[in-house]
Amino acid sequence: MRKLALSDEILLTVEKPARYIGNEVNMVKKDLSNIDIRFCMCFPDVYEIGMSHLGIQILYDMFNRREDTYCERVYSPWTDLDKIMREQNIPLFALESQDPIKEFDFLGITLQYEMCYTNILQVLELSQIPIMTEDRTWDHPIVIGGGPCAYNPEPLAPFFDIFYIGEGETVYDQLLDVYKESRKNGESRTEFLQKAANIEGLYVPIFYDVTYNEDGTIKEFKPNRDDVPAVIKKQVEMHLSETTYPDKPLVPFIKVTQDRVVLEIQRGCIRGCRFCQAGMLYRPNRERRVDFLKDLAYKMLKNTGHEEISLSSLSSSDYSDLQELIYFLIDEFRSKGVNISLPSLRIDAFALDVMSKVQDVKKSSLTFAPEAGSQRLRNVIKKGLTEEQILTGARDAFLGGWNKVKLYFMLGLPTETEEDIEGIATLSDKIAREYYDAIPKENRKGRVAITASTSFFVPKPFTPFQWTRMATSEEFLDKQRFLNGKMKEQLNYRSIKYNWHEAELTLLEGVYARGDRKTAKVLYDAYKKGCLYDSWSEYFKYDVWMETFAENGIDPYFYTSRERSYDEVLPWDFIDAGVTKKYLMNEYEMAKSDQCTPNCREKCTGCGATKFGGGVCYESKA
Ligand code: SF4
Repeated sequence: MRKLALSDEILLTVEKPARYIGNEVNMVKKDLSNIDIRFCMCFPDVYEIGMSHLGIQILYDMFNRREDTYCERVYSPWTDLDKIMREQNIPLFALESQDPIKEFDFLGITLQYEMCYTNILQVLELSQIPIMTEDRTWDHPIVIGGGPCAYNPEPLAPFFDIFYIGEGETVYDQLLDVYKESRKNGESRTEFLQKAANIEGLYVPIFYDVTYNEDGTIKEFKPNRDDVPAVIKKQVEMHLSETTYPDKPLVPFIKVTQDRVVLEIQRGCIRGCRFCQAGMLYRPNRERRVDFLKDLAYKMLKNTGHEEISLSSLSSSDYSDLQELIYFLIDEFRSKGVNISLPSLRIDAFALDVMSKVQDVKKSSLTFAPEAGSQRLRNVIKKGLTEEQILTGARDAFLGGWNKVKLYFMLGLPTETEEDIEGIATLSDKIAREYYDAIPKENRKGRVAITASTSFFVPKPFTPFQWTRMATSEEFLDKQRFLNGKMKEQLNYRSIKYNWHEAELTLLEGVYARGDRKTAKVLYDAYKKGCLYDSWSEYFKYDVWMETFAENGIDPYFYTSRERSYDEVLPWDFIDAGVTKKYLMNEYEMAKSDQCTPNCREKCTGCGATKFGGGVCYESKA
């Protein structure tokens, strides 16, 4: 019998004990006596969020297909259990075997969001694994990080043994083989790390040093030994329909954020919006074959009992066989009571037809993400969406029976003026007018309901805006207030609801998105002072963060509100993500002169991703 790591008494004290007991449907069980490598995958946030993450499900399945490896999982303990574990000195454990993580060979942590960084330190500390890589020995797991935030690993450099730059399907097998070999041959941990550093895509921070200029910018970043590469190259899986995919995903016992079967239809994006990091990192765009996806849909629904299926992708409307796939899902599964949850589609006749088939028109709302209020600013960010398209889409939807619209915008985009901000209010109002123009009074079922939300723009590495300044919290708040005032001036303001985000958290996200190694110390100190679950506003301690920056003599605005010059060494310059600096610079210059460039299907703009040898870059040549 599997013994739980926590006593009944503790489990009954904490909120949602199911977060810690594992044993979910499709959980993998293995006999430890036949296993060479124990791998624990971690999502550094609460269970309900971590369980909804597709990447972990893919890796969990991939690792467990290896006979010699047992992959288990761990998530951040919620604050109630965190306290008990510290008081009672209980080491953090994996859900499957309930064994302490410190006994594992690897702890793999996915890096999805900067605001989870303190939770990483929590996981290490509760696991009783030394927080600093330099303090670890063969008695401790190899701590490896991957995911989008690994593309600027520097703020986390002291805490990780290895960073994995690229898609999990590519070099993990090689790494595990090297590990087994090293252990068998009695090599030292450093010898193993040296070998790992020579696998393409793996970055071992202790082998690299950084020096700084007097003004705080980076002078030089280079290896401190000759036998490791100076540049780390992103690894990409080019054959998405030939790789493994979890046809038996884990099914939790409690409600999680995404309780459904998820089909990843493609990776990458042809659009190249200039603010979007994922769109740049996952280049080139690669599609999964539609027959592969149809087959998966059957298997996954059967193996999970889920009653909902959704498609995952950065821009689903661009998937070549979307109509075939969606009509297939509707025809096959709707009558069996399976909900088809729609990805955000560009609103056209097809989208409206599909939406009316799968949704209750009265309840559902239409979503547009214009991101910016004026056409000029939408050109700056290369958001390929015109006002005419938005208004026509909205009008068609109103005629089809909808009367709710959600709009998403960003505040603080490069070159933004008051006119652009006002554009958010006037666009919301124009949509409302479309409703009153399109639907005669006697046919209206109440008012149109428009919800406009704004978030704050954070410049990210490997985007054309990586050099740009980010607005300060005060500037963000001013913009928000200004927009709120403009919303109230609109003719239809009673039909418009304006939602906004908190500005203070954005500052921290901005620092850690483009931070260097010096910001790691602040992270550590803030964590030690109790910062945890920063992305949860009820736990976010802005004052403690600001105090910790000051104590460390670090000005957060140095990282956020400063325009960088093209010749400044950026903390992530040693990573080759596929897109060239020249391409990003050109896109930034085009942005500054309000100009768009074509998307990948219209015309290749030579971003550098052709070197991966496939995907959209080669489509026309096939
Ligand atoms: S090389 Fe051209 S087609 Fe390929 S991702 Fe880059 S811009 Fe798009």
